[in-house]
Amino acid sequence: MLEGLLRASGLPWLEARLLAERALRLTAVQVAMRLRDPVSSVDQAALEALWARRRGGEPVAYILGEREFYGRRFTVTPAVLIPRPETELLCEAVLERVSGPSALTAASVLDLGTGSGAIAVTLACERPDLRVTAVDTSVAALDVARHNALRLCAAAGIRCVISNWFDALGTERFDMIASNPPYVAAGDPHLVSGDLRFEPPGALQAGADGMDSLRAIAAAAAQHLKPAGWLLMEHGFSQGEEVRGLLSRHGFSDVLTLRDLAGLERVSGGRLPD
Ligand code: GLN
Repeated sequence: MLEGLLRASGLPWLEARLLAERALRLTAVQVAMRLRDPVSSVDQAALEALWARRRGGEPVAYILGEREFYGRRFTVTPAVLIPRPETELLCEAVLERVSGPSALTAASVLDLGTGSGAIAVTLACERPDLRVTAVDTSVAALDVARHNALRLCAAAGIRCVISNWFDALGTERFDMIASNPPYVAAGDPHLVSGDLRFEPPGALQAGADGMDSLRAIAAAAAQHLKPAGWLLMEHGFSQGEEVRGLLSRHGFSDVLTLRDLAGLERVSGGRLPD
């Protein structure tokens, strides 16, 4: 019986069920309707193969090759960070600033370190009038971002550029810069446990205090923003004060921090003077 196998899988029910949908090529509803059905030995082997990978620690998103973000399904591979719900806050913060009566139309937005393209593609899907530039230093990551732009019909609004932060962008200036850079400290124990073990270290780690990328972006952003342009960056829950300090020192005003759904400081930003 499928239900018995799911319960004996050694995995949380939701994970076992999601992997069963994939292994058996069924929808969630079909799995629910077949819980009391017998399972063939072929299907049992297919289930066990995926469950064993998960028991070995591999993230569900990498096994399935996708993860939902902002209501859309993004392709993910081990070349990219798995999109997190916290990062939806960063997208909302950008969207709020390009909406409303005084908002710019056809604003240009730069996503630094786009990875799967979760931020860039979400912005382009939500606001097809935006001109979004997505950069990443990883060719493999940018391929995933391009794929997601095509998959989610946002390709027309996005330009993908291989670049280490601003390096390949010359003197170009944007109305807004958004980034979810690496911000985990090199020695952080989380890096050697759970899903993070399988994610690209370059998307997670940023020096001894995790601040290297946040510092580099904050230092260079003013040269790539138009007057009154916003810089918004995601960061670790204990980095808010330092990031606000960085932004103020680099000439940003209206400096603010937003809290995620867990109530933790997660996104900080500031605006250049007019
Ligand atoms: N939020 C991620 C984590 O701690 C880190 C993502 C990042 O470094 N940008 O799991």
